[in-house]
Amino acid sequence: MLDTTRVYSYSAVLMGSPILLKLFVSDEALASRVFRLIKHYEDLFTVNRAQSQVMDINHAAGQHPVRVSSPVYALIKCAKAASMLPNSAFNLAIGPLVKRWRIGFRGDSVPPGEDIAHLLTLTDPLQVVLNDADESVYLALPGMEIDLGAIAKGYIADRVRDYLRKEGVEQGLINLGGNVQTLGTPAGNWSIGLKKPFSQAGAMVGTLEIAHKSVVTSGVYERYFEQNGQIYHHILDPHTGYPLDNELDSVTIVSADSIDGDIWTTLMYGMGVEKACAALRARPDIEAIFVTKSKEVILSSSHHYRFTLLDNDYQLIGSTA
Ligand code: FAD
Ligand code: MG
Repeated sequence: MLDTTRVYSYSAVLMGSPILLKLFVSDEALASRVFRLIKHYEDLFTVNRAQSQVMDINHAAGQHPVRVSSPVYALIKCAKAASMLPNSAFNLAIGPLVKRWRIGFRGDSVPPGEDIAHLLTLTDPLQVVLNDADESVYLALPGMEIDLGAIAKGYIADRVRDYLRKEGVEQGLINLGGNVQTLGTPAGNWSIGLKKPFSQAGAMVGTLEIAHKSVVTSGVYERYFEQNGQIYHHILDPHTGYPLDNELDSVTIVSADSIDGDIWTTLMYGMGVEKACAALRARPDIEAIFVTKSKEVILSSSHHYRFTLLDNDYQLIGSTA
């Protein structure tokens, strides 16, 4: 019988993010294989180095299509579909703007308006041309760049879950810098902390109890800089080229697959609370927790998790039934 009172934690830093693996058996070798798997995907998807399969596509922008491996093609196809949703805030072709702002990468000033206006012309997702026949990707305009930063960690978290399952692991958790995916139901479910925005490490607004679910949080407090009292964070509005400005400090998505959580956090940022809750009525499989700047915690619904508020500065809105 597995002892679910004894947790073994393994950590690493990959994709510029703290990575945490929790198991109920001591298995250093398994942990190394999991970290190697994550590194393998990082090497395919990264745009923070000169070479990767995604960078091969970016380097060939305006010149020729590039054949890529099936996981890269599948993820780009999925990211393009999310980008083509009506009024989507998700845009896989946002790369030139992300690179120019450098938010989270020692970027600390607002680019001139004309730079942003010019770069916006290089971010049309329709100009990401996919060919299913040979799994090639072509960026039609020179200077275009794909950026999978808003989706790749979700995809990778799901692959880690699949790998652990294949290895016979029944209970486990992987946290890729805010993208949590879980296996099984250890005694009393998994308890996942919801970070308090702009607070010291460890401060929590509340906790979520879940089983067999992914929990993805995207917040404006993770990567940002301040200029003239204004905060500029890393989730950009693909329609204006500036950080999305709304009532939200963070969005958390509870879903079966982490890739959905990653896509939906970005979509929700674009919608704001009211439209997001309306959109989620058609998706009972996706549930959201919004933390607003006015210190409300709003649950779109909570059928697949239990939320406990821990910080009395915040007001809980929505049913926990
Ligand atoms: P999310 O909200 O899920 O995504 C925000 C990120 O998506 C932004 O940082 C930007 O990259 C992109 N983005 C911004 N606006 C949009 C939009 N409207 N639509 C679509 N995408 C958008 N960080 C480092 O510091 N160093 C590294 O070497 C590094 N390597 C990485 C390699 C990989 C393969 C990945 C996936 C990430 C890496 N990162 C690295 C982290 C990366 O730069 C982002 O900060 C991170 O992916 C953001 O994830 P999130 O869940 O916090 O935010
Ligand atoms: Mg995301």
